[in-house]
Amino acid sequence: MVAIFGGTFDPIHIGHMRGLIEAREAVDFERIFLVPSGTPPHKTHLIQSPGEDRLQMVRLAVRDLGFGEVSTYELDSRQPSFTLNTVSHFRNRFKKKPLTLIIGSDSLLEINTWHRFEEVLSLANLAVLPRPGFVGKDSFDKVEKKLSPIKIENIKRNFPTSSSDWITTDQKKVIILLKINRLDISSTNIRDRVKHGRSIKFLVTEPVEKYIIEKRLYREV
Ligand code: ATP
Repeated sequence: MVAIFGGTFDPIHIGHMRGLIEAREAVDFERIFLVPSGTPPHKTHLIQSPGEDRLQMVRLAVRDLGFGEVSTYELDSRQPSFTLNTVSHFRNRFKKKPLTLIIGSDSLLEINTWHRFEEVLSLANLAVLPRPGFVGKDSFDKVEKKLSPIKIENIKRNFPTSSSDWITTDQKKVIILLKINRLDISSTNIRDRVKHGRSIKFLVTEPVEKYIIEKRLYREV
């Protein structure tokens, strides 16, 4: 199984990294690609750091993770970063292997706003990293609503171990709800802390922290 983890990564933080470590413990991924976004369609109203800086921080984080590969597909692409384009690209690259898109639960709950999300879900499985607030039966009900018109066919709880629940859709793809540590860490909060001169130690790795300081990222002037 090939996994794709896309994001703005402005900056990549410990929430992303622990998510990847624990997802990899729960699901047997052969390869995991981190894909920093080019121009994210949902975040065009936000000012974001240059792709080169975000890419560099992802590279530093991957070095510390000890696994994972960095893909510049979205940064190199001239098209807007639609998940569908990225998933199609990996579909063509790995013709026979099952693909899994790793996303946070906040992304799952806005999946109905993604460009042609039904197509995305016909091409790839999903592995969902829980963020604070995403718990229990409530989450199944919410997911079911967001997926419409795709239907849930089956829910296997605590499958294949207690670290995940598996939802099978009528497109015969699975949505793996991972039951792993929830970390209340976001890039927004990190940018905000830097802007106000507060510490970001242990929210990002040391090399990423140094990079942010040296490049004076997220400062107002
Ligand atoms: P921002 O605060 O700028 O919106 P973010 O912290 O959500 O950023 P992104 O780069 O947008 O980070 O996230 C990439 C993916 O990682 C998304 O699918 C997001 O849901 C997921 N993610 C981000 N932070 C966490 C976290 N703490 N735990 C689990 N998943 C996360």
